[in-house]
Amino acid sequence: MEGDSVPRNLRHGPPITLTCDCGERRQLRYGERWTCESCGKTWNTNRIPAEQYGAIRATQIRYRRIPAALSVLALGCIVAFVIAGKAFGGLIMVALLATTWTMFFRPFYRRRYRRALADLPTWKIKPE
Ligand SMILES: [Zn+2]
Repeated sequence: MEGDSVPRNLRHGPPITLTCDCGERRQLRYGERWTCESCGKTWNTNRIPAEQYGAIRATQIRYRRIPAALSVLALGCIVAFVIAGKAFGGLIMVALLATTWTMFFRPFYRRRYRRALADLPTWKIKPE
């Protein structure tokens, strides 16, 4: 199977955009191979240095931590309100939080995330 040799922490990283010498483009996962349909060259994303791709993966994980933490917080709020016997109040509270996040913070957050990833390196790899 493909990707067996890929380190576990790199398996679910952001997609890699590979541009073939002939101009064909494809989005690949780290460790994936791709044979270009137009010119037949085979590319292997394993040629990207793992530690460099690891830096991208680390950025992605860092930026995912906040939304994940907020979800846990929201869940904690619901549980706390349910225990206090005020489930309805808890739901309103969480709905309010979720709306605030979606409308105000998420667009801002996404922009920062995209900028952080855009700063990362591009690689030149050789076909197989
Ligand atoms: Zn090609």
